Amino acid sequence: MATAGTIRHIAAAPEPRPHRIEPVAGVPLIFELSSDGRRGADGPPRPDGIARGADILGRELCREDLPGFPELSEPQVLRHFLRLSQLNFAQALQFYPLGSCTMKYNPVLNEEMAALPGFAALHPATPEHLAQGALELMERMEAALAEITGMDAVSLAPAAGAQGELTGLLMIRAFHRKRGEHRHKVIIPDTAHGTNPASCTLAGFQVIVAKSNNRGFLEAAEIRRLASDDVAAMMVTNPNTLGIFEPEIREIATTLHEKGALLYLDGANMNALLGVAKPGDMGADIVQLNLHKTFSTPHGGGGPGAGPIGVKRHLEPLLPMPRLARTGDGLRFETNRPDSIGRLRSYHGNFGMLVRAYAYILALGGDGLAQASRLAILGAKYLRKRLEEKFPSATGEPSMHECVLTHDLEKRADVSTLEIAKRLLDFGIHPPTIYFPLVVPGALMIEPTETESREILDSFVTAMEKIYDEALNDPELVKGAPYSTVVSRVDEAEAARHPILRWQPKEK
Ligand SMILES: *Cc1c(COP(=O)(O)O)cnc(C)c1O
Repeated sequence: MATAGTIRHIAAAPEPRPHRIEPVAGVPLIFELSSDGRRGADGPPRPDGIARGADILGRELCREDLPGFPELSEPQVLRHFLRLSQLNFAQALQFYPLGSCTMKYNPVLNEEMAALPGFAALHPATPEHLAQGALELMERMEAALAEITGMDAVSLAPAAGAQGELTGLLMIRAFHRKRGEHRHKVIIPDTAHGTNPASCTLAGFQVIVAKSNNRGFLEAAEIRRLASDDVAAMMVTNPNTLGIFEPEIREIATTLHEKGALLYLDGANMNALLGVAKPGDMGADIVQLNLHKTFSTPHGGGGPGAGPIGVKRHLEPLLPMPRLARTGDGLRFETNRPDSIGRLRSYHGNFGMLVRAYAYILALGGDGLAQASRLAILGAKYLRKRLEEKFPSATGEPSMHECVLTHDLEKRADVSTLEIAKRLLDFGIHPPTIYFPLVVPGALMIEPTETESREILDSFVTAMEKIYDEALNDPELVKGAPYSTVVSRVDEAEAARHPILRWQPKEK
């Protein structure tokens, strides 16, 4: 628990100043550590005085001088970046129960596999006949994801969940156009992730909102009411963002199909379904997967994502380029695909992520993946049950891999969900997702994942209970949190409106 003794620093939000980045809590910028002529070890100097790197790069590519480039000794560089890495919360150090986002442990084995020189040093423009091993990994990965999702074909090209959504929607548009239909609406439930309506708008569709019922799920009757000849598709997340399974999903799929519309299943978070249930069996025509969530690859700022999409056979010709095909001489990227929606990005997807996720799938195997889902569900149910007295569930339906909780502290003590979340930082716990889904006022959305131990879950319960009591007895304590982080409260709106992205030297 955070006591005065553990409080390291309390910093007010720095005054925003144009073109200057203030050093955070005494850690200077690398430019400010620079000292003219300082160097790391580089072996004995060459007789011609040319830097050693020139041997590898070629002399013509090396500059004699790079004005303003920081000059430091090797230990200075090491210490600088290690210190920076400690200013942040990290999944490798702390519990990170971020609902919907699935921040799970990234196995070290994945990293080792991705670092194998045959993978890590492979240039994306390597001719196909010299990259057959990598292409085979992609082929096997497509097959594994098709099996997991119950779909007929998979593309590994999209670089994130949201790009997978956009890919799916562009395919939906192309599918209807090809049949001579101009459907311009997409149904999205009121519990949807924000990227769903954003992707629809980007793809030129108009969004119609489907209301979930007071138990938190969608009724087929609501979809029957909304489905018309204008509707191209419905996008749905299952389990939905309240963490509950959509019990009428198959009836919803049938209703849509009868009306000529498609079902897009947002499979960003498959942590309840792996090895247990398949979107293909639920009637989905398209599903995307976030490898950086369910498949244990690093997330967000920690690394590039990957959002493969799977489709049923009738949509396969529309899949984006490049498309892998097995020919008489091995694996090739097909170039003649007249119905394809085209390319989404450079090269073949984020290959390093595919290697990591494939390693995860092989390491666990089919039974292991199912066990992971069951443990993820067990963890969420456990937290919900242990916390229900002070933080009741937003729904009476059984929770799957995440639970959405509420509280009465706003009313009783004028303490908001944001303030509870900030206070958790003082207990060494990353805050859960808050104020989402939007249908639950003041929501706390908690996803423990399968990788956390009972002890960690118990310490989270203890922290939440303590914060509840603090809010009632000493609300100002909670409202001023966090006290133990390098920076306390930051001005989030200012950071978004006036980002300062470039360092400029002080005038001498
Ligand atoms: C995370 C998430 C997305 C978006 O995925 P990104 O990789 O962040 O673009 C979409 N839908 C749901 C349900 C998600 O949880």
